[in-house]
Amino acid sequence: MERIYCTYADTEVASLYTHVQCPYCNHEQNKLDMDECGKIYVIECEECEECEEQYEVYFDAS
Ligand SMILES: [Zn+2]
Repeated sequence: MERIYCTYADTEVASLYTHVQCPYCNHEQNKLDMDECGKIYVIECEECEECEEQYEVYFDAS
């Protein structure tokens, strides 16, 4: 499973959406409530029909 890294720079502070980009197909999606530092989130790619991969997002504030 691929893993990408996100920070607060990728997060809309007002809405707490974090922009993530699938490492398999590069489609972007916004995930809600995914901003806990040091936590790994498993995301299922939902943005394109050919790609139903899961990938990990490691969220860190720095
Ligand atoms: Zn994908």
